[in-house]
Amino acid sequence: MQINNFLHQISPEKVIRGESAWSEGKQFIPSICTKPLLLGRSLSTSNTRKLLAKDLREIGLEVLEEELDYDCCDNDLNKIYLICKQRKCDGIIAAGGGKVLDAGKLIAERANIPCITIPLSASTCAGWTALANIYSAEGAFIRDQILTKCPKLLIFDYSIVRQAPKRMLASGVADALAKWYEASVSTINSTDGLVEQAVQMARVLRDQLLINAPEALKNTKSNSWVKTAEACALTAGIIGGVGGAKCRTAAAHAVHNGLTQLNFKQKPLHGELVGFGILVQLTIEELLSQNKLAIHARSQLHEILMNLELPTNLESLGISSVSEHDLKKACIFACKSNSDIHNLPFKINYKDLINAIIKTEELDYKIKQKNNNNSTLTIR
Ligand SMILES: [Zn+2]
Repeated sequence: MQINNFLHQISPEKVIRGESAWSEGKQFIPSICTKPLLLGRSLSTSNTRKLLAKDLREIGLEVLEEELDYDCCDNDLNKIYLICKQRKCDGIIAAGGGKVLDAGKLIAERANIPCITIPLSASTCAGWTALANIYSAEGAFIRDQILTKCPKLLIFDYSIVRQAPKRMLASGVADALAKWYEASVSTINSTDGLVEQAVQMARVLRDQLLINAPEALKNTKSNSWVKTAEACALTAGIIGGVGGAKCRTAAAHAVHNGLTQLNFKQKPLHGELVGFGILVQLTIEELLSQNKLAIHARSQLHEILMNLELPTNLESLGISSVSEHDLKKACIFACKSNSDIHNLPFKINYKDLINAIIKTEELDYKIKQKNNNNSTLTIR
């Protein structure tokens, strides 16, 4: 009899969430590390990070502050890893968006020291997971890496996360919605109870987001905001943990990975690309598996993305004009043999993906025309 065993990294060891989670959660840090490296990136979060560092010094920690130059890129990872080693840091505190959190987890893993995550937005579930995405210096997706453990401590402080721009939360919603659209198709042949439970959790997550996200974006003081922010930053991570390696992403994230290979006027956020990727995935399901429900699901999702002011076509993602060559390059990358697009329950090649993207663009154009918005088809 063949026995298959599955390893799950389900959750951070400790999670503190709430209005003043930082002031309570920071008390746990001295028992984890005494000389942490506080990692961040953007100028917009530097004041928050300075306050975190000040608080940590007040409770007796020796804090080293460092900033990434790029988005979770090998150059940065090596540079910070060396600083961490030379200065004998005994923990990483990553405070930022998904790419900072991923970088912090990777550096901690390489240095074999604990990682503490402090999401400064709800744009991804990177503060929760034992997974990191690695990008080039130009922002092109290279690979993802499974880590040996989830963070030691996750502090999700509403009053801090609330300060993030509305666009970050909208992006987090698109990324979290992908859990349902991707996990429900990638596990279609699974008989694993935990996987089935994780997929149902993704369905509930989607429903809560459909109900709460519009209000959350309008009113950051509402209960809808708490539900939405936690759904994006926390629950989306639990689903990956419970479902494990068999509950993976599919075409939506593969489309994200492919499109990051192109040049952008202004780089879109992770979830913005993933949101468009879900629309493309539903078109693929319609075209390649004659799934009539996918047509309905896509029109429902399209409306939701528009309501949340999320991009629904390449132009709104910042790709003003896509040549055939570029589109082919993105689709070949998205369909590489190790890509998660092959978690779809049917075969797909890069030509199918090009067709699906063109059809998704045409459908978006038709809907926008109907709604009297100015929209141009960008594939030439
Ligand atoms: Zn994602």
